[in-house]
Amino acid sequence: MPTSSTLGTDLHADPGHLSDPSDLGDLRDWQSALRAQFPIVTGHPGLAYLDSAATAQKPQAVLDAVQTYLTTSNANAGRGTYTWANETTALVERARDRVKRFLRDPDPVSGRSTVHFTSGTTEGLRTVARDWLVSWLRDGDEIIVPFADHQANAQPWLEAQRLLSKRGIRIVIRDMPYEAESHDYDQTALAALVNERTRFVAATHVHHVYGANMNVHRIRRTVGPDVPICLDAAQSIGHLPVDVGALDVDFVVFSGHKAMALPGSGAVWARGARGPEFRPGGWNGSPNTTGVVSLTAALDWLEEAGTERIERWTVGLGARLTEGLRHLPSYEVLGCPLSLAADSGVQRRQGIVTFRHRGISSNDLGFILSSHDVMVRADGHCQARSGEEESSVRVSLHVYNTVEEVDRLLDVLDGLDRQTRGAVTC
Ligand code: PLP
Repeated sequence: MPTSSTLGTDLHADPGHLSDPSDLGDLRDWQSALRAQFPIVTGHPGLAYLDSAATAQKPQAVLDAVQTYLTTSNANAGRGTYTWANETTALVERARDRVKRFLRDPDPVSGRSTVHFTSGTTEGLRTVARDWLVSWLRDGDEIIVPFADHQANAQPWLEAQRLLSKRGIRIVIRDMPYEAESHDYDQTALAALVNERTRFVAATHVHHVYGANMNVHRIRRTVGPDVPICLDAAQSIGHLPVDVGALDVDFVVFSGHKAMALPGSGAVWARGARGPEFRPGGWNGSPNTTGVVSLTAALDWLEEAGTERIERWTVGLGARLTEGLRHLPSYEVLGCPLSLAADSGVQRRQGIVTFRHRGISSNDLGFILSSHDVMVRADGHCQARSGEEESSVRVSLHVYNTVEEVDRLLDVLDGLDRQTRGAVTC
């Protein structure tokens, strides 16, 4: 069996806090106190919501912040001179600082980095493509796109290529290479792709199907100091510490709703230092002020809860689930096989576990689980590369999920495994 070193996998700088993900005992009280803060979760004790990669539930603090804003100072931002308008403008500016601090922006006060609010990751990536990339690229330039990731991180770059082509500017798009076994980006193959015409790399922090932490900090070493890197952080914000300085990326794009803020909120953080300044162009209209207020409250809540501990908890639950699935022969777990076992030396899988039953369609499995009050996602998960749209069942965990919920899911899956084992050829 290959080891992490034969796969070239360079784990987190400090993987110590993830070394025994199945041992969550010391976090139980901490987690119960946090879970109690989610009204939708406590209001439905019989239901297990295991679809947080689609959207996360909201803690009371976020609901309160929105309610307080709407009942005390709701106005438009950046327009008007009366108190509520000024307060709203100040809230939006404060939210920019909040995002910078949450991302551990090494230089938050210089004003060189910027935060632009969007409706989510899709719009954020499209804004980087439309309002920055097209002015950065020149005829004959090359860009690298991760086609095995979410299509939101492929379509905008293809659209930029089409737009430039209409202006007579030809851009070459190269496929980001992946290691076959770990599903990590293949840094050796990437190094071979990079040349003096490489002008941009798009990457993903945590894969939305395989749960893999894509070791994005290694990309800078591979592509050199001058190539801008844009990071889709949709599945990492709120799930693990995100440090833009350590990752050494130029754009970080994420959805507020996946990070416990309201739907229709999100942000693009842009470093000021490399390439032309990121200035989303045109008239942006009125901002989603309640979304922005909810984002500040969500990031406050997440920081207070502690993203290191959230990561430990969700990685631990994911390891428990993959370990359980390993003993059920009817199921095939997608992604890196080395990160499946709780005692694996390679623990890179965040709290996302995706699998198929060898004899039951994933859509049927989704319905069966729903009839047992377990909510999961069952479809092709919007992967960009064609051929990867075959359905699977994705379980995605957050801090409000419990060991008992994972065990309930495993019980149902175990029952199906027993019922169908005779009929399935593995
Ligand atoms: N990128 C990744 C990795 C995702 O998982 C998702 C959504 O699931 C998106 C982008 C798109 O996010 P949104 O629909 O919030 O724009």
